[in-house]
Amino acid sequence: MPGYTWLKEEQTKKLYLTFDDGPIPEVTPWVLEQLAQYNAKATFFTVGDNLVKYPEVAEQALSQGHRLANHTQHHLKGWKTPLQQYLHDVAQCQQELEKLAPAAPKLFRPPYGRITSRQSAALRGTYELVMWDVLTNDYDKSLSQEKCLQQTLKHTQSGSIIVFHDSLKAKQNMMYALPRFLDHFTAAGYTFETL
Ligand SMILES: [Zn+2]
Repeated sequence: MPGYTWLKEEQTKKLYLTFDDGPIPEVTPWVLEQLAQYNAKATFFTVGDNLVKYPEVAEQALSQGHRLANHTQHHLKGWKTPLQQYLHDVAQCQQELEKLAPAAPKLFRPPYGRITSRQSAALRGTYELVMWDVLTNDYDKSLSQEKCLQQTLKHTQSGSIIVFHDSLKAKQNMMYALPRFLDHFTAAGYTFETL
């Protein structure tokens, strides 16, 4: 699909961790602690509603050098939402983000990774649409923690954009896989950068 970023062309050992659906106080500060231990930077695709509720958690991520990005105000399903309503929701989230980080690049990831072609055409002028090449499936409760880790390790390569979730639903698998993932790729000489 043209106009989307799926992975970064990288010759050097760089990885791009992303966390969707936060920030929330139950999970995001824990993620920040893990990242700090490895001097890893990440990009958080935040839900605007959570930014309104927990600005201090968002501030904490920013102060530690991470990037915040747009994941709509209300985690909308693009295919169920009329164009203008969808665009308005994205703009609302962007407003919340810009209160916290006015000069940050405009990055957008559609919830569920799905968006209509009209929505994507309308957003593309303003935002870089960031997808991924490695989905951890951390939110899938039928997936064991070890399987979640192993498939994530297996599919990651230089320049990969990896999706974790800082959400209650994904917490169990993510809290198992993330530290081990960081450990594995740090030992292999990789660094973790913001998008
Ligand atoms: Zn999401």
